[in-house]
Formats: sequence, C-alpha cells, structure tokens
Amino acid sequence: MKVLVLILVLVLVLDWSEAGLSLNNVTSFVCDAQTLEQVSFCRTSHFSLRRRCGSRFSSEFIQQNKPVHLFVQKNSSESKNSSESVRGKMKEARLLHQTRNDSSDPRSSSSFYERYHSLDDIYLWINRTSQDNPASVTVLLLGSSFEKRPIYALKGFYDHNSEMKKILDSFDVFVLPNRMWRKNRSVSPGGRCVGVDLNRNFDANWCTQGASSSPCSEIYCGSFPESEPESQAVANFLRTHKDLVQIYISIHSYSQMLLFPFSCSREQVPNHSELLEMVEEAAHKIRRHYRNNYRYGAGAETIYLAPGGSDDWAYNLGIKYSFTFELQDTGRFGFLLPPSHIGKACNEALLAVKTIALKVLQKTQQDQD
Ligand SMILES: [Zn+2]
Repeated sequence: MKVLVLILVLVLVLDWSEAGLSLNNVTSFVCDAQTLEQVSFCRTSHFSLRRRCGSRFSSEFIQQNKPVHLFVQKNSSESKNSSESVRGKMKEARLLHQTRNDSSDPRSSSSFYERYHSLDDIYLWINRTSQDNPASVTVLLLGSSFEKRPIYALKGFYDHNSEMKKILDSFDVFVLPNRMWRKNRSVSPGGRCVGVDLNRNFDANWCTQGASSSPCSEIYCGSFPESEPESQAVANFLRTHKDLVQIYISIHSYSQMLLFPFSCSREQVPNHSELLEMVEEAAHKIRRHYRNNYRYGAGAETIYLAPGGSDDWAYNLGIKYSFTFELQDTGRFGFLLPPSHIGKACNEALLAVKTIALKVLQKTQQDQD
C-alpha cells in the first residue's frame, strides 16, 4: 500500500541579527559582501572610516563572499555614527539582496535551485515541471491564499537513486512550496497590522502561552483556529487524507533543529522515544555528511512553547510521524540565508527526510510481519 508523506514548507520572515563585537577601545562590525555593489560599498565606507578613525585594515581585503570584521576606534562619536551607518547600510543592502527574487528565465541556468525566486517564477516552474514530466509530477490545487493566490501541492516520483526509489515506491510525496513571509498577508478588520502567524493558527492549544492575540505581534494567532485560508487549505487537505498520510513534515527556517510534537505543551507524546530515535539518527547523519550540528527533540523542550502549530495539530489528527525542521542557520544570517547556502541547506533537509522516511518504512513493514 502506498501512503502519503506531506512536506509543508511554511513561511520565512524578515528579521535581522547583526554580528558585532567590541574590544576595549575598539569596535567592530562585520562586512559580508555578497555582491560586487556591496564590496564597493564596504570598501568606500571602510576607506572613509579608516581616514577618519584610524583603522589600519586595507580595503583590498574586502572581497565578495569573504566576511571580514572591520575595526574602528570606539568612543569617538564619529566612529560610532559611521559604524552604525555602515551597519545600517549593510543591513539594507543584504536585505535587498536576499529578498530580491531572481526573475530571469527560471530554467536558464543550472543554478536555478541555488537562487531565490518570486512566487510567479515558482508558479511557472511548477507548470513547466509538471508539463515536462507528466509521468512523474502532478499538481494539485489545495486552495488559495488571502491574496487569492493558488496554493499548489506537487506530487512527485523518481528513481535516480535506490533509497529514493524505495521511498517513492512506498510513499506518495506532496510538497507545498512557500516563500519568505512569516505571517500571511491578511488584514485584520480595523487593524493597522498585516498578517497572522500561520504556525500559530491551527487548533492545538490555540493561542495559549507562546502565541499572541495582538494582531501586530509576529506570533499573532489569528481571530480563531483556522481563521486563515492558508491554514484552512492545509488542514482540509490533511483531514481528507488523514488515513493515508503517514508522515507530515513542516519545513521552516531558522535555527537548525529537528523537532517533533508537542510544541504546544510540555507533555510527552505516546511515541516520544520512537520520534526521538528518528530525529537523532537524522541529526547524526547530517553531522557526518555535512559537518553541521542540528539540535533535536520535542518542540516545547528544544526550542520554546509554540501553540497552534500544524505539526501538533497533524499529530492530534492521528498522523503519528509529524515533524518540524528548522533549517540553517543558527542566527548569523537568520531568515536572510544567502543563496550560496541554499544547496547545503536543501541537502541536509533531504537527508533528514530520507532518514525518517526509511525508518518509518522499516517500522510499518515490521508491523505487517
Ligand atoms: Zn519555525
């Protein structure tokens, strides 16, 4: 029997964490130029800082994709203002770069999967991929967003690699892509703030500690459970297919964690040790293959209390293998992960998906024996 794996890619957010350190009478900031424009911006800023504040660092060392700490003397109001304005400009430049969508022909280059794309490009890609591969990809329409944009799920099969073939022979895999926003785009009635945190909008200890009822909060739970068309579409899909859905994975960024229920309470789920064993193995494999550390465990214990998440809701619906992955990184770039890191982040997530799917397969086969 074929069962379903649902991988939900939820939303990313705009936020910023700035790396900075200060020594005794020296202050530093990180220049991490991703583009040539940023290199030249950093060099110019550094040049004027050096002239005015006495840094010894040569501008020649500032190069693309080579983060450098620039040091300037502290305590002079000038250095403070300058480094703050550079920091601000870098933040602005990085924000622009990382949120910019590369809107050229989505199939034009082999590095398509290492760039960010607009929703229109993603739709185009979904269309072409399904048209070019009618035997291996189908598209389902699940509903539409607040802005009436379609919510698609891709169902795929392929057999390039034996583990993948084994997984896809046994599971149907559905992927719901999404991009960039932490909250959806809905406007609360009379409110000046936009958006509900969809991962607080499901009916799992809805709007208790770890969520906010204030529409301006980043963790606003919405006016009632499933108040949003996006969470409703996902919940309806899961309700309709709940007897077939074997694994549910909600993929987020960031913090490098492999989590399972509950996030909405500190209570342990009945198959806690089974789920722990799965994420532990996945984390070990990631460390071995990609030399990257992922923390793992039950959500509430590992990250924080977060009620109203789709993973907890799916678990309570009866999907006993329910997970949330928090992808790279641990805060340096945060939600603005540079395109050059996409490949590695995807490979890590894929390794975790494969590890868990194979484990579940093993268990269900044992149960049938
Ligand atoms: Zn998350």
